Amino acid sequence: MNEDLSEEIKKYDFQIQSIESEIAKLRQKLNKLKTKKSELEKQHNLFKSFDKSAEDLYKGADFPWSSNLISLLREKFKLKEFRQTQLVAINATLSKKDLLLLMPTGGGKSLCYQLPALVGKGTTLVVSPLLSLIEDQQIGLSKLGIVSRSINSGTPKELKKEINDYLSKGTKPVIKLLYVTPEWLSKSKLFKSYLQKCYALGNLERIAIDEVHCCSQWGHDFRPDYQFLSLLKDMFHDVPIIGLTATATLSVLFDVQNMLNMKGCLIFRSSFNRPNLFYKVVSKPQQTEECLNYLEDILKNKFRNKSGIIYALSIKDTEDLAQALRGRGLKVRPYHANLDTGLRRKVHEKWLNDEYQAVVATVAFGMGIDKPDVRFVIHHSIPKSMESLYQESGRAGRDGKPAKCIVLYRFSDYFRGSAIVNSKTEETKLRSVLEYCLDSSTCRRKLLATHFDEKWNSNECEKNCDNCKASSSVVWYNITSVCKYVYAIIEKAEQLEVNLTLLKLLDVWFKGGDKNLRVEDIPMPKVERNQAEVILAYLLIKGYLIDYKSYNAYATNCYIQKAPGRSLGTNTLIEIPISESINFRGLLKRSADIQDDSSSKVIKLD
Ligand code: ADP
Ligand code: MG
Ligand code: ZN
Repeated sequence: MNEDLSEEIKKYDFQIQSIESEIAKLRQKLNKLKTKKSELEKQHNLFKSFDKSAEDLYKGADFPWSSNLISLLREKFKLKEFRQTQLVAINATLSKKDLLLLMPTGGGKSLCYQLPALVGKGTTLVVSPLLSLIEDQQIGLSKLGIVSRSINSGTPKELKKEINDYLSKGTKPVIKLLYVTPEWLSKSKLFKSYLQKCYALGNLERIAIDEVHCCSQWGHDFRPDYQFLSLLKDMFHDVPIIGLTATATLSVLFDVQNMLNMKGCLIFRSSFNRPNLFYKVVSKPQQTEECLNYLEDILKNKFRNKSGIIYALSIKDTEDLAQALRGRGLKVRPYHANLDTGLRRKVHEKWLNDEYQAVVATVAFGMGIDKPDVRFVIHHSIPKSMESLYQESGRAGRDGKPAKCIVLYRFSDYFRGSAIVNSKTEETKLRSVLEYCLDSSTCRRKLLATHFDEKWNSNECEKNCDNCKASSSVVWYNITSVCKYVYAIIEKAEQLEVNLTLLKLLDVWFKGGDKNLRVEDIPMPKVERNQAEVILAYLLIKGYLIDYKSYNAYATNCYIQKAPGRSLGTNTLIEIPISESINFRGLLKRSADIQDDSSSKVIKLD
């Protein structure tokens, strides 16, 4: 009897197990389907967002508010006409649509929420990342005779009361534009409760979120407090949101839509292109003195009496560089986060008044820098992402007149940058800047456009970048054998348990440095050292080499290694495109390194 029961129990066990395993399989299948579905939704939403017909829908001048818009534009804002995307965005937000608006720096995003604020009877809440940005906006508005308010921890008591009374009871005066930082919005429960009352009274007309890319970790300026903005759609579900930014790739936009609970909302963008900017990459001299000579020369001659910004990698770099340039009689000052607020403000002001020709700054000199006549932006080290490159360069030429954006590129700076980035995403971003710098033939605008998922015809650049201006053809070089030599050096160093920095690797390759590391049977390269650097950089971006970091108490060091699992078979062919204009060929052709010339082909591209 007992045995029968235990047999029976086993049978049940067996059935239960088999069902559980089926459930597990079904779960897996379910998860796969869910992932697939969410990918498709993502695409679907983006397509919906970019629906061109929506743009047509909102570009008209026959909305109930249309005649009012024009008179406000002319009489209040003292401007002649709308730029095309401005009108589309304004009509859409007045039609109570949620939308994201992408326009380049200086494109005129502020107008797209400032003007609609004056159309309705209620309040536009403007979320802006920095107090200094808010102050700038308020100064601009008050010059136009438009009253706005901002509320934060430093707001005087009486003013706070006035604002709170208006929000909670609808008392006069009506506040058309109310500025807050996301920090204040997330921190102050009281403020949120007043906003809710304002909403209940029907006075919360619209929410504008400036620099909206700060919501996304994929953006280049992620700010944790922007995440709280997801509450807005929950709290005020029928209040239209307009998010504004100058830089966002599709993945950032999608992320922002998700974060703000406005999946599939309209997205309008005007072209990223800034036709008046000349983009250029210059090979950075190896010696500090030579680099200073170069900077001194252009600041004293080409950019004489012209205003600009020099971006440097670290606080120490800005201090050193500014001091050295001042030693050469130039009026420049460093600007970074460690300066006290008063001094920072003073540097900024004196630069605005042209008492300083340039600020030598870290990325802390950023959002809200709004000097119209910046004629040059120089990156003393490569920027950390294409977004930063675009945004920082974009501070030049806001007045629409010609300006130059120069990146000083040296491969070793890539490693300095790599030492301070701390995520895979950031590494990928830095690498895309490396690719941009190495490219000596493609239109810079095309490279930027591709990065920002925009279509671009190279001839639209009007020779306004170094590569279009040179317009030389490209020669492809076979560097397979060179790669073999590099691998041989790395393998020997591995055997000896020595880590190779870029400097060490180059030294050994050029038969210098540590004798023990040299590999007898590889020839002395006949290319110049900086050309050898170009080759190594290509091997890195093509995935034949990798850089890796090691940390000690004092510093982070970056070393070069063979990419794991990558080997050179007999069929491997590694080719790199080099613009004829940089005369790489003369040197490489003479090089013993590229003796097996039979396979090195010269391809001319139009
Ligand atoms: P951003 O897009 O960088 O936020 P802003 O809103 O600060 O740009 O505007 C940049 C400049 O462009 C401002 O000086 C502004 O007055 C000007 N501007 C905006 N719209 C127009 C327009 N329709 N016509 C002429 N100038 C405009
Ligand atoms: Mg702006
Ligand atoms: Zn070009």
